[in-house]
Amino acid sequence: MYEPPPGVQNGSLRRPAPWNRRPPALPARTRQGTTFREHLRLGRKGLAIGIDIGGTKVAAGVVDADGRILSEARRSTPGSDPRAVERVIVELVEELGAGHRIWSVGIGAAGWMDLDGGTVLFSPHLAWRNEPLRENLQRLLRRPVLLTNDADAAAWAEWRFGAGQGESRLVCITLGTGIGGAMVLDGRVERGRFGVAGEFGHQIIMPGGHRCECGNRGCWEQYASGNALGREARILARANSPVAQELIAAVDGHAAAITGAIVTDLALAGDAASRELLDEVGDWLGLGLANLAAALDPGLFVIGGGLCSAGDLLVEPARKAFARNLTGRGFRPAAGIVLAALGPNAGLIGAADLSRVSSRMRS
Ligand SMILES: [Zn+2]
Repeated sequence: MYEPPPGVQNGSLRRPAPWNRRPPALPARTRQGTTFREHLRLGRKGLAIGIDIGGTKVAAGVVDADGRILSEARRSTPGSDPRAVERVIVELVEELGAGHRIWSVGIGAAGWMDLDGGTVLFSPHLAWRNEPLRENLQRLLRRPVLLTNDADAAAWAEWRFGAGQGESRLVCITLGTGIGGAMVLDGRVERGRFGVAGEFGHQIIMPGGHRCECGNRGCWEQYASGNALGREARILARANSPVAQELIAAVDGHAAAITGAIVTDLALAGDAASRELLDEVGDWLGLGLANLAAALDPGLFVIGGGLCSAGDLLVEPARKAFARNLTGRGFRPAAGIVLAALGPNAGLIGAADLSRVSSRMRS
């Protein structure tokens, strides 16, 4: 059974989203000498820094109110020590903030944040466990800070500036090594009761199927992700299948070196077996989207992440499988399925914008 997070009691179930909450106390004068009143004025059209913390790299950028990136910086993720990650964040903000007047900082990372956007409950790539990251960072950066899940940040960016603009019920799916998911409903990131909604990749789509790192078997991300594409291609190559000769040649015979990205490149170059493998992944993608449509009834699915470079080779079979499996097909409008528009920077753009919008609303 789920335990409610600390501080949540009966009678406070309808808690506002973190970006509708009271602001954290801001210093009257920031380190750059901006007064609090000037800070508020800047916030309306001001710049924010977005930081996307991945398993291997930390990407940061200064983002304006129209979602444009004005300057960027990158670092490698410094191991899993929370203090070292904080130091890198401070370094990046100092470096990028030198040429701009920065209003707020948004941090996106894989993992679960509490509904306040103040504490990281769990992050798979980093050692954050119940880490009060926002408090630490606001003290160091002297600016409003918002923590957000990376898939939520990317969905927000696509809704504000990308392929999801104008949609009142948007579901975003990020296809990378696994599947990330997020929803923007009526202009608000929907995070569920405990802040952990959107784990669509772990819907069980094939009971008893492939083992997933979450511990279950048959999760959707074991069938419709870059990892799934690579795994199936390696099986073909190891069997020395006559249809896999181009795949085998692309890695000089080392089947273990085949990745989803290699298969995608070969498919784009016209290799028939790679196209068939992508077709299969697209099929699984469409089936899972039909399940989500049955539960959530969105107007649009935006598909982002590395696997999207396959374009129509992935999305067309997904659309077909979606139409075949949609509950009530023929008697209901069907959601659209489109590719994301913002590419790999969606996470940092969304984190920056959420921090700017939320701190403005809270002020
Ligand atoms: Zn799983």
